[in-house]
Amino acid sequence: MGKKLDNVEGILGAYGPNFQGNSFNAQTANIRTGEIMQKVHHCNDNDCNGKAATKACYLKLHRAFCLAPIVDDGKDSPTFNQVVICGRSFNVKSPGGCGQHAYGEDHNFDIRAAKNAWPMPKVTWQQRFNDFKAEHDSMMALRVEKQELADRKATMTANQRNKYEQTDKMEQENKRGPIGCFQGSTSVKWQDRKDLSTMTAPKEAPDAPMMKRKDAKAYKKQQRTIFRMDQARAEAEMRRDQEEKAKEAAELAPRKEAKKGKTAGGNRFLSRFGKR
Ligand SMILES: [Zn+2]
Ligand SMILES: [Zn+2]
Ligand SMILES: [Zn+2]
Repeated sequence: MGKKLDNVEGILGAYGPNFQGNSFNAQTANIRTGEIMQKVHHCNDNDCNGKAATKACYLKLHRAFCLAPIVDDGKDSPTFNQVVICGRSFNVKSPGGCGQHAYGEDHNFDIRAAKNAWPMPKVTWQQRFNDFKAEHDSMMALRVEKQELADRKATMTANQRNKYEQTDKMEQENKRGPIGCFQGSTSVKWQDRKDLSTMTAPKEAPDAPMMKRKDAKAYKKQQRTIFRMDQARAEAEMRRDQEEKAKEAAELAPRKEAKKGKTAGGNRFLSRFGKR
């Protein structure tokens, strides 16, 4: 007999050791930090009707711990500055979620869907988490890179710095894609790309007669979010391909092209942006 909790892929791993075994405290306020509430948690599920929550409430998804990705800002935390789950306890029935991550903002929808046995094509929280983490990690890497650069520049002679800045400028130019956008820009019109032309947005929620109107609306919104996420991933992949190709082309280009000087480079730069 499966517990409803088991229908949310990866949730036990996310809850971690604080949820395991008999040591679990039903007054846990945050499963990640292990923080305990002074007062008893109440379960507002119809089955429990305000009784004190137990572990069974978490297994039946009456209550859950928030799976929204956040950057850990606990200075003493072993995961400080890393991406972690929020972890706060909340009543699954409450639209406000954990208090900071409401359903209306697409958080913890997998939990709600599993609780109500809605048909979900796939669990989305892990993908969200990974996307959020990738973004955070690359931002941190960039920050480190910038600092290293500043350190290096500080020890350079004026001559070295000049030479360095010229090379850097060329590199930056090569990083701009051939489709007229900066790296990381979302201005690419994905509809214009043949490979993506088969992607169509879902229009209707699937047959789910038990779903309340409000829930059906939320369900549809979630489907659109999944679609947007797929779209963004496909777009990013395509951009990476194009950047790689542009880089290869630049490496293969004869060196005299680069030696033509500022004007040629300048024109190339401007024509990419359509400003003449
Ligand atoms: Zn309470
Ligand atoms: Zn309960
Ligand atoms: Zn939360």
